[in-house]
Amino acid sequence: MATVATTCPYCGVGCGVLIETAAGRIVAVRGDPDHPANRGRLCTKGASLAATLGETGRVLEPELRRTRAEPRTRIGWNDALDVAAERFDAIIGTHGPDAVGFYVSGQLLTEDYVAFNRLARGVVGTNNIDTNSRLCMASAASGYKLTLGADAPPPCYDDIDHADCLFIAGSNAAWAHPVLFRRIEAAKAANPAMKIIVVDPRRTETADAADLHLAITPGTDVALMNAMLHVIVWEDLVDVRFVDAHTRGFADTKALVREFTPRAVAGVCGVHEEDIVGAARMFARSKATLSLYCQGLNQSAAGTAKNVALINLHLASGQIGRIGAGPFSLTGQPNAMGGREAGGMATTLPGHRDVADAEHRAEIASIWRVGELPSRSGLAAVELFEAAADGAVRALWIACTNPAQSLPDLRVVRRALERAEFVVVQEAFATETTAFADLLLPAATWGEKEGTVTNSERRISRVRRAVEPPGMAWPDWRIAIEFGRRLAKRLACHRASSGAAPDFESAEELWNEHRATTIGRDLDIGGLSYAILDRDGPQQWPYRAGARTGMARLYENGVFATPDGRARFVPTPYAAVADPIDARFPLRLTTGRLRDQWHGMSRTGRTSALAGHVSQPRLALNVDDMALAGLRAGDWAFVASRRGRIAVPVEPSRALRRGHAYMPMHWGSHWLFGPSGEGGVNELTIAALDPHSRQPELKHAAVRVEPARFAWQGWWIAAAGNDENAALARVREAARGLGYAIVGFAAGPAPGVVLHAAADIAPSAARLAALDALFGVAAGGCGVLRYDDARSGVARAVRVDGARLTAAALTGDVRSHRWLCEMLTAGTEVGRLGHALLRGGDAPPIALAERGPVICQCANVAASAIEAALPAAQASDDAVRALGAALGCGTHCGSCLPELRRLAAVRGERRAPVVPEAPEPLR
Ligand code: SF4
Repeated sequence: MATVATTCPYCGVGCGVLIETAAGRIVAVRGDPDHPANRGRLCTKGASLAATLGETGRVLEPELRRTRAEPRTRIGWNDALDVAAERFDAIIGTHGPDAVGFYVSGQLLTEDYVAFNRLARGVVGTNNIDTNSRLCMASAASGYKLTLGADAPPPCYDDIDHADCLFIAGSNAAWAHPVLFRRIEAAKAANPAMKIIVVDPRRTETADAADLHLAITPGTDVALMNAMLHVIVWEDLVDVRFVDAHTRGFADTKALVREFTPRAVAGVCGVHEEDIVGAARMFARSKATLSLYCQGLNQSAAGTAKNVALINLHLASGQIGRIGAGPFSLTGQPNAMGGREAGGMATTLPGHRDVADAEHRAEIASIWRVGELPSRSGLAAVELFEAAADGAVRALWIACTNPAQSLPDLRVVRRALERAEFVVVQEAFATETTAFADLLLPAATWGEKEGTVTNSERRISRVRRAVEPPGMAWPDWRIAIEFGRRLAKRLACHRASSGAAPDFESAEELWNEHRATTIGRDLDIGGLSYAILDRDGPQQWPYRAGARTGMARLYENGVFATPDGRARFVPTPYAAVADPIDARFPLRLTTGRLRDQWHGMSRTGRTSALAGHVSQPRLALNVDDMALAGLRAGDWAFVASRRGRIAVPVEPSRALRRGHAYMPMHWGSHWLFGPSGEGGVNELTIAALDPHSRQPELKHAAVRVEPARFAWQGWWIAAAGNDENAALARVREAARGLGYAIVGFAAGPAPGVVLHAAADIAPSAARLAALDALFGVAAGGCGVLRYDDARSGVARAVRVDGARLTAAALTGDVRSHRWLCEMLTAGTEVGRLGHALLRGGDAPPIALAERGPVICQCANVAASAIEAALPAAQASDDAVRALGAALGCGTHCGSCLPELRRLAAVRGERRAPVVPEAPEPLR
């Protein structure tokens, strides 16, 4: 056994993880007690990392297709990179360097970013390199730069313990940043007087913890914050001394917010006037106000304005540069920060420099020892794919990200990937995007590579290799460097100003060059090294030469990163959403995250254990909207926007106001299938961009929802077996062409793989027979019982092995799927039931307690067990403690605590978790 200290590859909390290895394999993970971000804690996702490993579904060797008519076939690394260099060289030679583009990832390590940046800007000579951090933190970066002068979150996690008011906006931290939320819970428990204000259109688990929940209409954040500033001005709560000494531009902002009276804005935001006033007073009067914000502010066509309007509040009330105070963006991805530091965006250069600044370009060219760097602004993520769809960008290199699932308006993305002449995808896992690759390159992933990442509080942690990469996979930086060497040679033949090939032999060499680009900048890490990180553990930047430690919080001396040291107020006019509702598209759709899944599920979707909480894609609707549309829980509905349409089952939600809909971001076309290959919520979202940050609007789309009354439905389940990913891959393949379909895991002690399909016309008898055979319920099979009514089109089949249900299939009438699924996944003894298992309808042939969703993943405790054990009429914290003692739930990672409290609150009937009603609009 060996133990390797590394960092979690999911969210920007940046938890330390200890990997246990044995015989060259990762056998267990646990939280690192010495890591300052988590002190040993992990959430369900981090704690389940070991369950997501294995070679099934990994990209293991380079594959090439020479024409689109052929399948890809195996090729060696040398040939693969030679072909890539030849194709890129030909396109660059004919159409210029801006005819190619690189789309990389906030999951890459800082060292990978350095390699790709050298490749794109230094070798190719294009700024067409952008990252999926554009979808995540670009607006936060713009907001910081415009107001404080640098893309640098001023506070640190310790500030949570010292805040008297937490202002959480556009963040369901309870699910998206669970370990950080544990810290918020602990801070509130230690200081019950601390006020928590949550701004979120939904009644999330985070909102449940709020003293004040402002359930604003999606997209109205700027109006709310301007109204709060109006109150702060009107009630003389401005910190005049701070504003006079440390800021500029207050007069213009003050003039702008004059019109934003709480009374007028209450109608715009759908919240009560007195709540706006109350929030402003709490914010400004608190001894220390810390705001925590995430994609609800960033993923918007007005994302920069939302960030700036919030920072204006901090500046006006002097809530910045002090312990416990400041604007603190929560990073979505593990290394969105490191990517920004390394200049991995189309508009930036390493060391927080700007492409548009000639001096900055010259500084980087000098460090890189190359000629002039390109000055033309590069294409940001959405623009890059739009350019490829239009034919202007002809070659795409995509690394460690899944644009065919994660970008908005996926029709355009698919067109781009089809129209581009040459698409290279460098990946560890098979994803929606790898299907489009002309050249697929196997990349090493978490646990297999060396480097660093930076978390939300500017803390740099080491990422370490615990095992060798499988197959022929290489670290991402090495792929970029080896390709760059080959391409540089070719380009040098016909381009006088070709950049020198980057020449690095290790991740540490790349990081040392990155350090050099930071010296003298706001993020200076000239005094840091791998050796110091290894000796002293993770460190925050800046960490200048001669320093013994990093800087916990910024601007404590009142000097900001602007040329004159003063922060800037920036007036933020309020603009309506980019995709307004109307009579045809009357519902406001927002997107977000689930507790146990991460991004496109390429890793978290690899284990049935993480499917127990939410197992299938669902669109959540307000109960009244469902009734109005004639929909019941589980019914399929068509959801259409001005850009696309999907079919998905619906579920009622008390967390949504009337007129609102919600769907998690995670499910793409690997899980949710449509007749033309579409699937997932990004078929519906809009590619409108924020004018400053060029971050797309992923949080608001106007949609309509209609019942999808399919003439035919089919449902299959089979035990997942020893290799559940292989089973899932087979089912995924079988789902194609079935009309609308969902595939996934059914979690439980005996997990299953599930296919649920629906269409207007039933598949052919041969197709249905093939599906039955795949799931092990073919007629005549061992242990198979069948009921077939060809006249009505109803067929039911079950397979029983050793008194346990191991497979089932239903076509025509699928109402019995719930109890069959329960029996299979619970491992219920069904041997004596015989043909009763073929009974249709909702009612099972035996009394069966449906487990419901798994609330506590660590202790595997489902909702039904919690309901049964919940003591009545106890304070929710006491009830949660009693549940922990009885069932063990909530006593491990703590990710389930908000839901346990919610269930206890409902049972105690003291506070139903319902979104507050909107006030009547002003007349
Ligand atoms: S909170 Fe969870 S997902 Fe985020 S870094 Fe920590 S363990 Fe990983």
